[in-house]
Amino acid sequence: MKAEYRKGCPQRGNVKGTLIGDKRREFVHLSGFDPTKLMEYLEIDLISHNRSIISTILKPVEYFFEHIHTWFPLSLRWCSECVKKGFHSWLHQFSLVKRCPTHQIDLICACPGCLKQIPFLLSDYSLSDPFTCKCGYTLADFTLTQWSEWNILAKVEDGDVLKWLAGERGVVTETDRLLFIPRSVSVKMFNFEPTITSKFTDSEHIKKMTKRGYSLSNEFKDHVYDENKKCFRAIDRHVRKKYLAKWDKVLWDKVLVKSQ
Ligand SMILES: [Zn+2]
Ligand SMILES: [Zn+2]
Repeated sequence: MKAEYRKGCPQRGNVKGTLIGDKRREFVHLSGFDPTKLMEYLEIDLISHNRSIISTILKPVEYFFEHIHTWFPLSLRWCSECVKKGFHSWLHQFSLVKRCPTHQIDLICACPGCLKQIPFLLSDYSLSDPFTCKCGYTLADFTLTQWSEWNILAKVEDGDVLKWLAGERGVVTETDRLLFIPRSVSVKMFNFEPTITSKFTDSEHIKKMTKRGYSLSNEFKDHVYDENKKCFRAIDRHVRKKYLAKWDKVLWDKVLVKSQ
């Protein structure tokens, strides 16, 4: 039917389909929206606003080349208390934040009713009605509240998130870059002093670290390999010195006790 309709309509002859892909539904760049119309309806430049917030959040890890969806996953992460006021923030969506910065409770990453993730996209893939999963679970009930109550000022209470945003951890010098797996760390871990440090010996390599091409080169891989080797050696030395020495003593004491 749709194909026939297009056939009979010369103005729409070049339109290939009415379905839009997820790329046009994403919230990070809002690439599916007409910037002028968005501005006209919302009366703010939401695209620039998003860009500025995202760049502030990602400042401490800007040296860490990752896909944007590593930091802002394509599935919704929300706070059960904030959502009651219709509130959701880029901080909730940021993968290194595991607890609501305001309420300090764990964020929810999947529907508690059916355990399925809800896409962080402008779509009705998983939601049957606003704030309602297709399984019937309601993220929040607004039958007794008014939209006017949504106008809340959410204060960031979490000290680790405040430090992150203030750039205290964020002022990452060229010799203060951390190697980590984004999926398994949180902002909290960035406030710990590393027990073991590994120093780059060649400053030329440090300068190159800021160049994207370098991070994709074989030279970079060799360099990371060497650094890892040094790092594991440092861990080995640390464990031997700090722990095994004590354990050796404990074991030795036990041997002595047994032999008596
Ligand atoms: Zn909250
Ligand atoms: Zn569900």
